[in-house]
Amino acid sequence: MRPLLQFTSLDRKMPDQRVAAERRRDFREIYEEFDPAAARAQASRCSQCGIPYCQVHCPLSNNIPDWLMLTAEGRLEEAYELAAATNNFPEICGRICPQDRLCEGNCVIEKGFQSVTIGAVERFLTEIAFAKGWVKPPRPARERAATIGIVGAGPAGLAAAEELRRLGYGVHVYDRHDRIGGLLIYGIPNFKLDKEVVARRHRLLEEGGVVFHLGVELGRDVGLDELRRRHEAVLLATGVYRPRPLASPGVALQGVVEALDYLTASNRKGLGEKVPRFDSGVLNAAGRDVVVVGGGDTAMDCVRTAVRQGAKSVRCLYRRDRRNMPGSAREVRHAEEEGVEFVWLAAPEAVRGEGTVREIRAHRMHLGTRDGSGRQAPLPVAASHFTLPAGLVILALGFDAEEWPEGFATELPARDRSGLIKVDHRGLMTSLPRVFAAGDVVRGASLVVWAVRDGRDAAASVHRSLETEASLAAAQ
Ligand code: FAD
Ligand code: SF4
Ligand code: SF4
Repeated sequence: MRPLLQFTSLDRKMPDQRVAAERRRDFREIYEEFDPAAARAQASRCSQCGIPYCQVHCPLSNNIPDWLMLTAEGRLEEAYELAAATNNFPEICGRICPQDRLCEGNCVIEKGFQSVTIGAVERFLTEIAFAKGWVKPPRPARERAATIGIVGAGPAGLAAAEELRRLGYGVHVYDRHDRIGGLLIYGIPNFKLDKEVVARRHRLLEEGGVVFHLGVELGRDVGLDELRRRHEAVLLATGVYRPRPLASPGVALQGVVEALDYLTASNRKGLGEKVPRFDSGVLNAAGRDVVVVGGGDTAMDCVRTAVRQGAKSVRCLYRRDRRNMPGSAREVRHAEEEGVEFVWLAAPEAVRGEGTVREIRAHRMHLGTRDGSGRQAPLPVAASHFTLPAGLVILALGFDAEEWPEGFATELPARDRSGLIKVDHRGLMTSLPRVFAAGDVVRGASLVVWAVRDGRDAAASVHRSLETEASLAAAQ
């Protein structure tokens, strides 16, 4: 008998989680790894649904029931192969996908039983695969003469790079940063995703022949025209980095900072670099009352980073309620365990201080009627003001696409009103021939798993287009 359907006798159990008091003191990841017996047991809870909603709600359509079955049977190498067949970075998604909104949130084990720990099993499989040497660099069956230029070494660009390399293209990845990973390195903190997990992928891609040109900024060091001359196709995977502003008086005071500046400084510090704006205290929460404005993943990473830096107090001000916040429920729970106070249904009105921020004046909100997106609009409650002490205010209100500098290109890809690149949604090609785009720069701020999906789709589309062009040319 197959060792499945154990959910009736076996409770859901995540890998051991470090206690909050200990977590607060360092930036190490908070979950331990499953051991093989625990992974097999948890995988065996799957009921092998005929219509697996977990898979339907995974942006990569991962074949979850099959790799759970193989894990439960102890066939770990096959399980890993299956997990890796649809996902370039299963160990990363297993760590940081908001599973409560995706696969696990749609697991349909019978009512009253908790979902299968899909993400933790996915992570376990990839970690054991690395330990056993099953994870291999991309090795094409044959080399092609054509080369592809990819701008942006975040998850979208890297997934595309790996796929295109497997197909035999010469792959050149350009990034303005000194490390690959995009937000995986400089946005997301170590306690969610250890930097070595990303560095390990860097080494594998290089071993497989992907060429990285780091410290090269499109629009400053090289233009799009030049990249189009150098390569048969170009993929733009540059993400979104323009912070949305807070329209309140006092935002220019010292001590009001942007979330990504704050997180990047902390991540660079963790990587052992000298960071003058951290060392001088500008981007360091130590000993200060911190207020983070916003309710998404970025805000959650800021509050939890501030706790670890030794802030005096950490509050998160969010204009909607817990149920309506965009951040993952799991991250909110972790933040609360670590001592963060959430001030729900509250919005800032003014940041106050003399030269330097001293406090934030806010008012209460209530949720009104639903807007076009189905979300209830937050509305201010009259005469409901209150103040919170604040020595550091971190703005985490989301991101838009950056402006392109003069000289970026003589011919620009079409963009929508918010600056996102317009693509043909089946092929991810922009308005310029052989120029493709993927990830946040197309979708707006989204998720790693969607960036991986886009990168894979863009790679397939680049290949299809070049093959079609070649066969049309041969037929003439
Ligand atoms: P990015 O990761 O942004 O990578 C873009 C790359 O392009 C960067 O390396 C950048 O340096 C480079 N680049 C940009 N412009 C240029 C240029 N002109 N020239 C050369 N290079 C350039 N998602 C999750 O799924 N789970 C999470 O827990 C999560 N937490 C997050 C926390 C934070 C703080 C943030 C900001 C985001 C988080 N996200 C999370 C979202 C996720 O990180 C992004 O959706 C994902 O990284 C987008 O991938 P991308 O490859 O499109 O872009
Ligand atoms: Fe779930 Fe993300 Fe893994 Fe898909 S990639 S199975 S959504 S954790
Ligand atoms: Fe297994 Fe849950 Fe997916 Fe059903 S929905 S196949 S029980 S993981």
